[in-house]
Amino acid sequence: MARKVKRLNGTSDSTCRCANSLEHWVSFGGGRAGYCAENTCAEKAEVGACVQKDANTDQSCYIIPLCRGHGTAGGSLEIMDFTVLVPADTKTTCMREGMLRENNK
Ligand SMILES: [Zn+2]
Ligand SMILES: [Zn+2]
Repeated sequence: MARKVKRLNGTSDSTCRCANSLEHWVSFGGGRAGYCAENTCAEKAEVGACVQKDANTDQSCYIIPLCRGHGTAGGSLEIMDFTVLVPADTKTTCMREGMLRENNK
């Protein structure tokens, strides 16, 4: 089974506290960065890409791990079913964690 996602232009790197968006994916539930999430791809994941679920009900952005080739390609993509989609919204991930850390001082 594969799921369809839509590639979005750009990444959330500029506002993110993580080293890069692939790190962001690893830190917030993705697990270990392994292979490209694209359904048929066997390349190593090198970038975290912003995608949207191919559904009108969910317009939020998610990060998935992709190889360099798929990371720069546009349009829609079929990804493997077990790929974890990590929210790109920093308010619910790294910014939030930073705030919690401040509060615990
Ligand atoms: Zn982050
Ligand atoms: Zn790929």
